[in-house]
Amino acid sequence: MSAKAKKIIIVEDEPSLIFTLKDTLENEGYEVHIVENGLEAIELADTVYPDLMILDIMLPGVSGFEVCKQIRERKHTFPIIMLTARDQEIDKVTGLNIGADDYMTKPFGVKELLARIQARLRRANSYSKAGPIDVVTLGDVRIELNESLVVRPDKEVELTTREVELIRFLVTNANEPVSRDSLLENVWRYEYSTNTRTVDVHISKLRSKIEMQPDDPRYLVTLHGVGYMMKLN
Ligand code: CA
Repeated sequence: MSAKAKKIIIVEDEPSLIFTLKDTLENEGYEVHIVENGLEAIELADTVYPDLMILDIMLPGVSGFEVCKQIRERKHTFPIIMLTARDQEIDKVTGLNIGADDYMTKPFGVKELLARIQARLRRANSYSKAGPIDVVTLGDVRIELNESLVVRPDKEVELTTREVELIRFLVTNANEPVSRDSLLENVWRYEYSTNTRTVDVHISKLRSKIEMQPDDPRYLVTLHGVGYMMKLN
């Protein structure tokens, strides 16, 4: 094998499926880790740092949804492919909102799963080359900068290129005051006909996309007389 084996965590409690998946993935050269319940899955993600997770929704104890949610809260960005029972359309919506990347409906063909895994790993790989910040999590809101997408519990919203730049700059300077002039310099690069009013208008628009209550922002706050600040934990 030329490259280091990619690590995949399988979270599944069905013995026959575990056996099939483990066997297939190991034959493809992946390093496979198996857990049969949700709590161990979360712990393992923190210690193994997998390249991808295959996550069953119906698990004993903590459900796959909760596992997914907690993993995203811990700022892990590896792709998660969820396994769902037939016709659980509502589950798909719930899962995508909490940060899953893809779905397989049981029963599924192993070849199709392999194809999805490869596709996700390729994408994840191109993300990590694109820049250091890919995903910003603000409570229930997930901002996928490389996709120019805001994934909220109520909807998905697209970001403009400028908004993506604005977020990158604010996040890079998180928890520090950022003046309007600094934004003009670093995000707008003093383009013709921009002024501090331009900044305020864009911030306001951005808030309506990334804050659940834009009138009472929790993350992108105004510092009166100073400018703005992105508050992150
Ligand atoms: Ca199950």
